[in-house]
Order: sequence, then C-alpha cells, then structure tokens
Amino acid sequence: MAQLIPETFIDEVRTNTDILDFASQYIQFQKKGKNYFGLCPFHEERTPSFSISEEKQIFHCFSCGRGGNVFKLLMDIENISFPEAVLKVAQDNNIPIPSDLQSSTTSKQEKLKSHPLRQAYREVSELYHHILMVTDYGKEALNYLMNRGMTEATIKEFQLGFAPPRDIVYDFLLNKGHQPEDLANSGLFINSNSDEKLRDRFKNRIMYPISDNYGNVIAFSGRTLRDDSDEPKYLNSPETDIFNKSKTLFNYQKAKKNLRQRQSMVLFEGFMDVISAYEAGVKTGIASMGTSLTDQQIYLIKQATSDLVICYDGDNPGIKATNRAIKLLDKKQQFNLSVVLLPDGHDPDDFIRSYGSEAFVNQVNGAMTTIDFGLQLLQRHYNLDNNREKIEFVNSAVSLIARSHTEITQDLYSQKLAELTQLPIETIKNAVLSESQKQRRQVSRKPYQEQQPEPKKQDFSKKLSALEIAEVRLIYLVLRYEEVNDFVIQHQYEFNNSELGAIFKEWQTYKQSTDNPTISGFIDFISDDLKRIIVAIEMMQMPDYYSSKELEDYLSRSIKEKQAQQLQKLRAQLNEAKRQHDEQQELALTQQIIELRRLLN
Ligand SMILES: [Zn+2]
Repeated sequence: MAQLIPETFIDEVRTNTDILDFASQYIQFQKKGKNYFGLCPFHEERTPSFSISEEKQIFHCFSCGRGGNVFKLLMDIENISFPEAVLKVAQDNNIPIPSDLQSSTTSKQEKLKSHPLRQAYREVSELYHHILMVTDYGKEALNYLMNRGMTEATIKEFQLGFAPPRDIVYDFLLNKGHQPEDLANSGLFINSNSDEKLRDRFKNRIMYPISDNYGNVIAFSGRTLRDDSDEPKYLNSPETDIFNKSKTLFNYQKAKKNLRQRQSMVLFEGFMDVISAYEAGVKTGIASMGTSLTDQQIYLIKQATSDLVICYDGDNPGIKATNRAIKLLDKKQQFNLSVVLLPDGHDPDDFIRSYGSEAFVNQVNGAMTTIDFGLQLLQRHYNLDNNREKIEFVNSAVSLIARSHTEITQDLYSQKLAELTQLPIETIKNAVLSESQKQRRQVSRKPYQEQQPEPKKQDFSKKLSALEIAEVRLIYLVLRYEEVNDFVIQHQYEFNNSELGAIFKEWQTYKQSTDNPTISGFIDFISDDLKRIIVAIEMMQMPDYYSSKELEDYLSRSIKEKQAQQLQKLRAQLNEAKRQHDEQQELALTQQIIELRRLLN
C-alpha cells in the first residue's frame, strides 16, 4: 500500500510538519540542551527518557530504544500503518490530500482500523447520535438535554446519542459486516436467558460515548430519561478487549488537545461534570470512570501536564473524595495541585446553573492550594475559642504545612497560621520545622526499590567494540558530508559492524531515490531495526566537524582489525596443519603469519 502514496506527497507532509508540535499533543516536554525530553508514551517511567530533536526531526527513547520520525511516532502510538500515518499527519496539519489518494485510502484506512470492536463502537456511536439528532425516537431525549441548557454544539462535540427502546444494534452491526462471534463479547449486548439471541444492552437511554486516550469510542454510559424509572440511573459498558476502566479517563484526549501553556487539566468526579464545565468554558476537564484514581490514570495525566485542579462536589462525600485524590496524587509529588471547593455543597453542574459560567470559570482559575484547602477544612472542624480544640487545630495545621516542599510555602503558611491563632510566629515556625524533619525521616525509610530507576535496555552503543564505536562516528559523518561518503567509497571501506554496513548501503540507494536527502526522510526508507540504530546514533552528542586525520585513523584501525582477524584465522589453520603433519602447508602458513605480523606492527 505504500506505493499508493507518491514520494513527493510524503516529502511534502514531512517537511511541513514539526515533530515537536505533533508529539506535544501526546507528551509534555522540557527543553534540555538542544533536545526536548518527556515521559515515554510506550512504557511507564518516572524520569523522562523520551527525547526529540527538533533540528533533526526525530524522536528517540533512551530507555526502550524506540525511535524514528514523525510518521514512525504516530504508527507506534496509534498502531497504524505507514500510509495511514502519512495521511493522518497531513490531516492534522491541514495539508491538502490529493483527491485520488483520499478516496482510495480512506476506505482502506477504515478497513484497516485495527480492532473490529473499535469499528463497531464507532459505528454504534454514530448510530445513537443520528437517532438523537434527527429521528422521532430521539426527540424526547433531545428536548431533555436542551432543557438542561445543553447546546447543540456540545451535544455534537461529545457525540451524545440515544438508544431507542427496541433492539436495533445487533442487526445494524451484522449489516455492516461484523461477525456474530465478535459481537457476542462486545459489551454492547446482553444474552437473554430464554433464547440465544443477543439483545441490546442499552435501551431508552441517553448515550454518552467514552473514548480511549486517542479519541476512539470504546464504551458507553447510558442515562435513563426519567429519574423515577426502576432502572439504574446510569448504566456503563462492561470492560472488554478495548475498554479498561482503570486506564481510561473521560475526555482525556480532547482535554489534552485543549491544554495551552500554563493551563491546567481539571479533574471532576463524573463525566457529566466534564460536559457541564465544557459548556461553561472549561475545556480541559477529565473524569475517572466511577472509580478512585488509578496509577495508570495518574500516569496519563502526568504525561499531559503537571498542573492539575481537583474540582469535586462541594458536599461532604465530595470533600472526602478530594482528600483521597490529593493523597493519591501528592504521594508521587509530581503535580502542582490545586483545589476548587464549591460553596454550599454545590456540584459543578448546579453551581453553573445557579451562578453562571463566568463564576464557575473564576472558581477554577482561582483554585486554592492543597494547603489552603486543608486549612479551610480544619477550620470548619475545630472551634478555635476552645483551647483544647485550638491546640488540636494547630497540631493538625502544622503537620499539613510541614508537608509542603519549599521553605517559602512553609513560611507563608506559618505566618498565616500565626495570625489566625495569634500565636508567636517563631513558635509555629519551629513546630513546622521539626514536623517536616520528622516527615522526611519517615519518607526516607520507604522501601528502596520504589525509588530505583528503570533498567536501561537496548542501548545500541553499549555492546559495541572500540572499532564499531569509530564506525558509528563514521556513519554519523557519512550522513552529513558528501566528502566522507566519497571517502568511504573510494577506500572501499568495509564496515565491521554489519548493521552499520547495511545502513551505509541503504543510504546510497536512498540518495538515488530523492533530490533532497534528509535523515528524517531516510528513516522512512529503512527497516525498523536500522531505524532504531540510526536514531540512536543521531541522538548521541557528537561534534559536527571532522578532520581528514580522523578519517584516516578510522581507516587504518579498520585495516588493522581485519588483519588481526586474519591472523587469528591463519593461526588456527597452522594448528590444524601441524596436527595433520602437513609440513608444506605449515611452512606456507608460517610465512603468511610473519608477513601479517610485520604489517600489524
Ligand atoms: Zn521508551
């Protein structure tokens, strides 16, 4: 299928795309030296080893060894083919796709779209949405949503839908070409006891699609139309091959896209809050799927941002949940956490209805620190006019303040606490200091393995001999300087490392295929194994200049190495000749060995 896309178009897409911009949709980066570093999307890690060179337009993970250009990144992240990746990058960058390519590839693209379940969920989601928006079945549900103040734009944005009261999904999917055995475990149906026929799981419900981290629908939550129904108010899809609750955050992909510099993700209790907040203008909301936050979800958030606002319901259960979330998130100390405490027990939805969108946005923008939040709760809890309660309050507050990691924060809140309790500031400061020392001692007693870094794997340069390291350098120069390339050809240099030799050969072929050879373009040209090596080489910090002496040196080292290998071979042959008492052969070999040793010295 690769031949379907003309090389010129691939070049156009590649040269008009910035890999850093593109990868920033998925990963949060920090600049270190020339390159950008972030957490690798392909495995869990705490210290960033995924790096991007903007100059070379490539990525490389120092931990797992993956690497390539923008197309390879997308192929690996979304598990799609090369042509699909080219088209998707083009779409994302608004690069017009030639019309013949569009029709032939999109149909194929759809067929390829990995898992049949994914396709089924997308189709069903479109069906439910259609029923809601344009059919009589959907009218009541649509009115219900509109009456709650939801706009058509939001309904479309979240692709809300309606599941009608009768079975429709099974036949619909069969008609689309799905196999009955795929559908049985899709989570879209329940088996009725009386017969074997699959029945729709969702009936007479407003449907909220739940997407994976890349925006594909993988599950639904269905809400009853009327609150007085006997049915449970919300019904969720069961876990399936494609839906894992603990790895899913509602609206994650869109929230990530909507993150601008210095804007936070906002964590809500439920997906309805996310949608209400979206309508009010807070477009970076996410929610866990009815469970408390899992490590995987925390990791996902961390990949997108370190600024997180917790906005749970303002009632007692909500406050307790906020405390739990703070503990979970703060444990790893990776976030700048802040908290919105909505007044009078409001949840986000009824706060917005009572006070309006602007007031809600102000609440989110003015979110308080976790220490402020904790102090507020403590204040509610204790009567400061009673000395016994006041002492308890001060002790709890000190322990809270001691948890903050900077001296400035500790000082600021010590000051605040002193004013509040009218105790001398020095007394509070001393108490905070000794408490934070105590806490630190406890932390350092944690099991050691928790702090150990991941083992490094597949480091290409680790297993190389000294000569091969020189060859790595030679390849690096070959890709940059035509003169070095010519030098290697002229001297008929043979690479000791076969992979590097293969790269050199491929480079010659690639150069003949294009007017404008680039490393990023070369990456599309070669096999995945060589790709990794090229990228690993490119990410090494090597000087760009060279001298002819350096080249001569590599050449003579290579010749010496070959001679040394030859010498070894001759010695083995000599031993064999001795064993067989072949004196003529012995003599000939001895002469050759003497000659070689002379050359080597
Ligand atoms: Zn990695």
